[in-house]
Amino acid sequence: MTTPYAITRVGDAYLVSTEHVNWVLVEDGHDLTLIDGGYPANAADVERSVREIGHQMGDIRGMLLTHAHVDHLGGLVHLAQSHSVDVWTGAREVPHAHRDYLQQLGPLRVPLVLWRHGALAWLVDIVRLGGTDREGLPEAQPLPATGLDLPGSPVPVPTPGHTDGHTSYHLPGSGILVSGDALITGHAVSRLRGPQLLPRGFSHDRRATVDSLEEIAEVDAGTLFPGHGPAWTGSMREAAGLARATAGFGRP
Ligand SMILES: [Zn+2]
Repeated sequence: MTTPYAITRVGDAYLVSTEHVNWVLVEDGHDLTLIDGGYPANAADVERSVREIGHQMGDIRGMLLTHAHVDHLGGLVHLAQSHSVDVWTGAREVPHAHRDYLQQLGPLRVPLVLWRHGALAWLVDIVRLGGTDREGLPEAQPLPATGLDLPGSPVPVPTPGHTDGHTSYHLPGSGILVSGDALITGHAVSRLRGPQLLPRGFSHDRRATVDSLEEIAEVDAGTLFPGHGPAWTGSMREAAGLARATAGFGRP
């Protein structure tokens, strides 16, 4: 199964966007960093995107995971095994990635989103992409305290809330924040465009997700590469402010 995608390049980084989720490739000469890997069915699409920007899978020096939801982790399960590359994520996200537990929208919370425009078509699509897969990523290890020696010199920015160990990555050389699901710019079940939070029900701790927007506001970057939706240009403080305005604790 092939999923169409679009590639947006900013500096040395590439945002690969499918209809339902994004991943990011960061280039330094021959070497690459891969951040997130899409759904289980997207593993082959990740490989295709690597070739499309003129690289091979063997160029990947390390893989980073923003958080252990199946739409970001699923593709990495296959890729980490078949290419034996190290995978790092936030220390608090490691047991989640190992599937010691699962902080994901389950059957009990599906009614929270089902009323939304586009939700049924979205559910059909994500099941097709392997969205019900429960396989963990045993290779996931905690981010080293000494920093990451990877292409793009990614700097982890802890942004808990969406999941307990959710981590965004700042790419200082390209002026990009890879925000995962801490801050997105579009989603199949959202009618909003631009910086926003995922709909209620998708995040484990909504209040902590809103609090983490302050961490994002502090990042010195001019481009947002989100986990869902297109790239966005502007200051991170502006992005965080726009997203905070969509949080609406009083409404769904
Ligand atoms: Zn997520």
